[in-house]
Amino acid sequence: MSELRCTEPVEVNHEQKIKMIPVTKSFLPPIEEYTAQVQRAYNNGWLTNRGELVLELEQKLTEYLGLQESKILCMNNGTIPLQIALKLLGKGGEVITTPFSYVATSSAIVWENCTPVFVDIHPDYLTIDETQIEVAITEKTTCILATHVFGNPCNVEEIERIARKHNLKVIYDAAHCFGVKYKGKSLFEYGDVSTCSFHATKLFHTGEGGAIFCKDNNLIKKIFLSHAFGHLGDDYYQLGINGKMSELHAAMGLSVLPYIQSIISKRKENYALYENQLDERFTILSIREETNFNYSYIPLIFSSENELLKAKRKLEENNIFTRRYFYPSLNTLKYFGNDEKCSQSEMISNRILCLPNYFELSAQKINEIVDLIHSSI
Ligand SMILES: *Cc1c(COP(=O)(O)O)cnc(C)c1O
Repeated sequence: MSELRCTEPVEVNHEQKIKMIPVTKSFLPPIEEYTAQVQRAYNNGWLTNRGELVLELEQKLTEYLGLQESKILCMNNGTIPLQIALKLLGKGGEVITTPFSYVATSSAIVWENCTPVFVDIHPDYLTIDETQIEVAITEKTTCILATHVFGNPCNVEEIERIARKHNLKVIYDAAHCFGVKYKGKSLFEYGDVSTCSFHATKLFHTGEGGAIFCKDNNLIKKIFLSHAFGHLGDDYYQLGINGKMSELHAAMGLSVLPYIQSIISKRKENYALYENQLDERFTILSIREETNFNYSYIPLIFSSENELLKAKRKLEENNIFTRRYFYPSLNTLKYFGNDEKCSQSEMISNRILCLPNYFELSAQKINEIVDLIHSSI
């Protein structure tokens, strides 16, 4: 079993581990607050299949996010909602997508027997370059799956215009977008379907978990059935899978949610500290206008890959661990069977590094990280 761990084994002694600065750390609510929620599941004798806790989490998320038209359905992670959306809307066709995202975005497409067609990204916003979408459309195209990468909104108006014109569906991988508003509205409300991840490394988390957002009542019914084996009691309607969130995961979500405003404020402070202290040789991504951002990630763009590697090494020598999000550019992965060239995405992927950002990170540590980066090059 030890070879099958799905995290990299961390061989550090306890003292080193305390001193280690990872790229992110899960926010852990006071354990009494978590166990009080778990106690409710015990009292009910009900652990999954949309019990009281999942329903309450959905209701509280609807309120917190200020959802106006969209319905939310909580799920077991942020990948299954992508797969369900692609199963229902992609229909085995070509899916226009971004090469600059977490690998789950493209693998969900291939997993659902659709073909990814990679379109390059905007050099500042790092989201799909909407001006290059139309030339990639063929008679086999069924939908557009774009990522609001690092919580930065895609050009949703232009993408919607193109989709309407060509009769395509729009799915947004909004895994990074918890709490982000665009033009005063939750970013989850854009597109035919939008998905989020509540994985332990994300801003709002349930350990493992995720959600799907959808405005169309007919479609949300199909999504609902899809995530619960396609049947309701003895009535079998359609093909389905198990995408349900358990009560134990909802318990974590219910105990993290009261802290979400403080979590976002702290990340925003961290973001400002980095931004103010890093010199002009570095750029943090440009956030699209009219966005209320969540400051979840600190993606830093270096002037060359060599400089990135020097800084990364220097930080590691000081027990500070960054991540190459997102690298490599997904169009270069052979197993996606693709040969499109996406020069912006490939260039950015080689030069972008995510710096530590989490609730407990101190201002002093941020100073230290910035100093190390400056001195490395
Ligand atoms: C985290 C992530 C996912 C996958 O979410 P899981 O909850 O880990 O399944 C999908 N897309 C993007 C962009 C992500 O960052």
